[in-house]
Amino acid sequence: MTEARVIDGKRMAAEIREEVRREAAQFFDTTGIRPRIVFILVGNNPASEVYVRNKGIAAEEAGFAHETKSVPVETEESALLDMILAVNEDPATHGLLVQFPLPQQIREERVIELLAPEKDVDGFHPRNVGRLAIGMGNYFAPCTPLGVMEMLSRERVPVAGRHVVIVGRSNLVGKPLALLLSQKSPKANAVVTLAHSAAGAKLGDLTREADILIAAMGVPRAITADMVREGTVVIDVGINRIEDNTRASGSRLVGDVDYDAVRHKASLLTPVPGGVGPMTIAMLLRNTLTAAQRQTLKRQ
Ligand code: NDP
Repeated sequence: MTEARVIDGKRMAAEIREEVRREAAQFFDTTGIRPRIVFILVGNNPASEVYVRNKGIAAEEAGFAHETKSVPVETEESALLDMILAVNEDPATHGLLVQFPLPQQIREERVIELLAPEKDVDGFHPRNVGRLAIGMGNYFAPCTPLGVMEMLSRERVPVAGRHVVIVGRSNLVGKPLALLLSQKSPKANAVVTLAHSAAGAKLGDLTREADILIAAMGVPRAITADMVREGTVVIDVGINRIEDNTRASGSRLVGDVDYDAVRHKASLLTPVPGGVGPMTIAMLLRNTLTAAQRQTLKRQ
């Protein structure tokens, strides 16, 4: 029986954050400019508050300038759009992140379309998505898929010519990851299958074909051992809270993969928590530094 090697996403993310901190310090030494990111938080969704706080702490630790603009839940769409325009026009700010979900009176697509693409460090603007789709370069890709790419690269998992099966086609994870993996470049060049709920009972037939299996479904422990071929690399993007009466909190986090069973079949596996999750913030810092570098070069 195989026993998977477990990827330590927490340690890998800490390494990347340290690399970004050092590079940002060098950038400051040569240009006098500190990368600066603005977070906009609308309302007081507890999960969003935690995410934004953690991103602020990460920015601080990387030596970035940062600001969180918190506005009440009843903020009108037009007021939020005005805030975005002001950040777009501020030359001292290089990155802008509007925390989703937004209250129902604000249309997310209006927000995404208004972001200055060069400051859109989340990679959601149609110009960034389009440039990624056609492999044009100079784009920002969303941070979670970037984190998966970085993880595969640092673990020296070859992807070129291998069959990657991604389960989940969201604009946040599955779809951009399929685009990144199938780029015609030596670092990518994978043969990608993008599965989703319409696969139905055929899902297992697809996942068993994978050399690398990536689960981004949002369904606790949906990928069971019988769906995984011996020796597969398994990356679990899912973060799901389930009831657990043995914990004081009454709950715990699990991924989309049945970790305890799949670890006896996979060759390499990510845990939840402590796998892909920490990589997302690390890649947000990387994107923000890149944004600052690109914008500074453009002005010189
Ligand atoms: P979405 O709900 O937007 O998308 C889920 C996708 O999975 C959909 O494409 C859906 O198919 C597919 N799916 C759901 N059930 C099945 C099934 N039984 N069989 C096949 N396909 C299925 O989720 P996200 O992409 O936003 O997030 C996915 C997971 O990743 C979540 O657990 C989320 O918490 C986590 N996540 C983790 C991050 C991190 O930092 N590590 C960041 C972002 C997300 P269909 O399109 O047909 O509905």
